[in-house]
Amino acid sequence: MKAIVIHAAKDLRLEDSAVEAPGPGQVEIRLATGGICGSDLHYYNHGGFGAVRLKEPMILGHEVSGHVASLGEGVSGLAVGDLVAVSPSRPCGACDYCLKGLPNHCFNMRFYGSAMPFPHIQGAFRERLVAKAAQCVKADGLSACEAAMAEPLAVTLHATRRAGEMLGKRVLVTGCGPIGTLSILAARRAGAAEIVAADLSERALGFARAVGADRTINLSEDRDGLVPFSANKGYFDVLYECSGAQPALVAGIQALRPRGDIVQLGLGGEMSLPMMAITAKELDLRGSFRFHEEFAIAVKLMQGGFIDVKPLITHTLPLADALQAFEIASDKSQSMKTQIAFS
Ligand SMILES: [Zn+2]
Ligand SMILES: [Zn+2]
Repeated sequence: MKAIVIHAAKDLRLEDSAVEAPGPGQVEIRLATGGICGSDLHYYNHGGFGAVRLKEPMILGHEVSGHVASLGEGVSGLAVGDLVAVSPSRPCGACDYCLKGLPNHCFNMRFYGSAMPFPHIQGAFRERLVAKAAQCVKADGLSACEAAMAEPLAVTLHATRRAGEMLGKRVLVTGCGPIGTLSILAARRAGAAEIVAADLSERALGFARAVGADRTINLSEDRDGLVPFSANKGYFDVLYECSGAQPALVAGIQALRPRGDIVQLGLGGEMSLPMMAITAKELDLRGSFRFHEEFAIAVKLMQGGFIDVKPLITHTLPLADALQAFEIASDKSQSMKTQIAFS
């Protein structure tokens, strides 16, 4: 079977990889769809991000769905042929954080396709994947492409939980890539009354409108587009900062009303912040990282028709064209979410 392996920046290879047999509690999955995520693109374009660098070849990918091909011993609730979304979150279940109900902070997390630990955690972009049955969420009623969106959607559901009460809130989303646009869907589903989205790209803002933003602001055309919202100490209750760019966070802080909440999702590295404004407006600054139980919720919300991710899937390429898929995904003027069809 083939796997998509990154060796170094711009050195991506389709390689043969051994087929494993599912052990007790595991299932073998014939992969159907794999979505290319920002972190995959960092490995592909730069060989890593920040201090995280590739030190050995690694199979990429963590946004996947597929069909159950065989069952290991003792697996119930799944049958051969079932379409499943596979959660890449694999906490140990035994460390202090897992036991405290914070599995996304697990000390021994084995999240697919991550070069954070060494040896690296191999990813899920392979024709056959053996996973724990507990990672698999049945996705009947969804397409394999939708099911592969459960992971990024779960990221934004977790962020929405971090944001707290959402009913009736005025929300600002800065950065309208896949995470920003999915945040719009998640915030609306949670009861946001008004959602304004800001980005530097008109094309990205088109997607924001397509998924329900009430208003969009193009900050490349109108640098001061958020300034009017800072009158009377600010307008928005909640900021989803999805760009990781300091100017967006600073402008967002000015546009938040006193006691507003900042949820930081964008991974932009070190930033300096207007602490005086955060202090004087009594803002809450919250990080949001990955997810756990929100993965199954993401599948349920899509199955129920409560969240429609289809407008965000712009490209699906066959496995043989994986390299081209990574190039397209890297070009934000073309791609919102690019996926690879494994079967
Ligand atoms: Zn992802
Ligand atoms: Zn743990």
